[in-house]
Amino acid sequence: MIIQIDININKEHLNALTSKLEDLKQNVNPVSTQHGRYLVCVGKKDFDIRQIGKMDGVNDIHIVSDDYKLVSKKWKVDSTIIDLGDGVIIGNGSLSIMAGPCSIEGEEQIEDTIEHLKTERVKIMRGGVFKPRSSPYSFRGMGLEGLKLWHSKARHAGLKIITEVMQVSQVEEMYDYIDVYQVGPSNTQNFNLLDAYSKVDKPVLIKRGISGSIDELLYSAEYVFAGGNESLMLCERGIRTFERASRNTMDINAFPILKEKTHFPIIADPSHGIGIRDYVEPVALASIMAGADGLIYETHKTPEKAFSDGQQTLNHSDSSRLIDKARKVFELRMQL
Ligand code: PEP
Ligand code: MN
Repeated sequence: MIIQIDININKEHLNALTSKLEDLKQNVNPVSTQHGRYLVCVGKKDFDIRQIGKMDGVNDIHIVSDDYKLVSKKWKVDSTIIDLGDGVIIGNGSLSIMAGPCSIEGEEQIEDTIEHLKTERVKIMRGGVFKPRSSPYSFRGMGLEGLKLWHSKARHAGLKIITEVMQVSQVEEMYDYIDVYQVGPSNTQNFNLLDAYSKVDKPVLIKRGISGSIDELLYSAEYVFAGGNESLMLCERGIRTFERASRNTMDINAFPILKEKTHFPIIADPSHGIGIRDYVEPVALASIMAGADGLIYETHKTPEKAFSDGQQTLNHSDSSRLIDKARKVFELRMQL
């Protein structure tokens, strides 16, 4: 149940309402969005809601019959726009590009990437410092020290940072050094982590789980929104199917379906989506045509020397070509 309360509800009425809800064994979460103030209540539904409806300060009550509501277009018709500051905006009808290496490897690599992104007018740099790896013997990232180094250089260059955070304790630790938190596919259903993201005032990009359905991705987003953070982006990054010709199968279907179901920006990750360098470009362009609001992909000055995911990483000249084509395809889509 979601209770819409008066924006100016006084303390006394709010306390009365909260204690009534507690008596009804509801777990109450206050949420303020761009559109109003709400109490998101989780608990049994075996009471007469009219006793709440007539209380002072209550404007409306929404019964949540679906498994998600806040993330759906039934809740909010307008698209959610994410403002990272300094004119970097996602989901406002322009194509957002986030690019960088799979893993942050060191000073020189950070500088090479920044130079490339600046030349191409890309404003958001991706990179991993805590890497979830299938094998424990693979490179697992430079950690917080790597992030601090990256942050100081990115700030200087006016770039925003998106990176994956894997544990609840890192959410706070990394807060000062990042602009967008990324939830990786192995954590999309880590509900403790989702709860932690719901309490931060920074945007979160949620990647689809490797065997996760579109609805499960939306449930994950609902967790974060219901806990108080509505600054979300969803990312299709390929799913596991029976097909072995590519690392994953990019689900192009997900773009029109997600665009219909949710108001959040939808980002395509063609690097993990197909996992083969030569095919990243066509998959990226197809994703844009299918409705993606942005791309997040892997680029490195010398992909063959990359510490991780080199086989799907574009060199900088292929990255430049992709950016050029992506912008053209996006323009074309907007004109159709
Ligand atoms: C992924 O999508 O599987 C992944 C590990 O992504 P990233 O390299 O962006 O962390
Ligand atoms: Mn990677």
